[in-house]
Amino acid sequence: KKIIITIDGYSSCGKSTLAKQLAKQLGYLFIDSGAMYRAITFYFLQNRVDWNDEDAVAAALQNIKLSFIFNEATGKADIYLNEENVEPYIRDLIVAEKVSEVAAIGAVREFAVAQQQEMGIQKGIVMDGRDIGTVVFPAAELKIFMTADPDVRVQRRFKELYEKDQHITIEEVRKNLELRDYIDTNREISPLKKADDAIVLDNSQLTLEEQFELVMQWVKDATN
Ligand code: C5P
Repeated sequence: KKIIITIDGYSSCGKSTLAKQLAKQLGYLFIDSGAMYRAITFYFLQNRVDWNDEDAVAAALQNIKLSFIFNEATGKADIYLNEENVEPYIRDLIVAEKVSEVAAIGAVREFAVAQQQEMGIQKGIVMDGRDIGTVVFPAAELKIFMTADPDVRVQRRFKELYEKDQHITIEEVRKNLELRDYIDTNREISPLKKADDAIVLDNSQLTLEEQFELVMQWVKDATN
């Protein structure tokens, strides 16, 4: 039986790494919901959309078409914004600094959540984000809530971003993670929180192999 697996949690806990591994092992579709909020933010920044203006946001959303296309090389789907692969731009700090503000807007969330729910009609999906187990798929068979020590998370994300841009500093990365976690947990609409029936996974002390083994057991339990 194919199921829906949701992975929520703070920024840079390794949600997409786990989601990607699971999808590969199970032959499931992996959807990185954060990429949608990042692509929308990228569009708003590029087109100078004033996101404090409701009408401007509504008009802009009408011009945004998002799609995911599987990339053989990376083993995950790339996000396309109006037919352009924007994967190379959406992880940059410029986007990361604004994405939580944009993701707190009701119209933006409605737009993204509707498309996420449509993708889940077909079972056999792993989706990671902040509200997937609570709002997008409240009936999912397996819900995971990931946490990790903040210092571990900062180091991991710094390493990732430094490979792309050697000007970035640890302090910038730390500030960004703190800011996003703060906005994501305190926003009015769909704040980041553990679903009542989610299993907590703290991976600060786990290797990737240990984590994967643990989660595969949960998958077995949820599938049977
Ligand atoms: O997962 P990622 O770190 O790429 O997400 C970027 C931002 O998008 C988060 O900090 C959060 O503000 C927003 N987001 C969200 N709901 C989701 C996924 C991401 O609000 N389901």
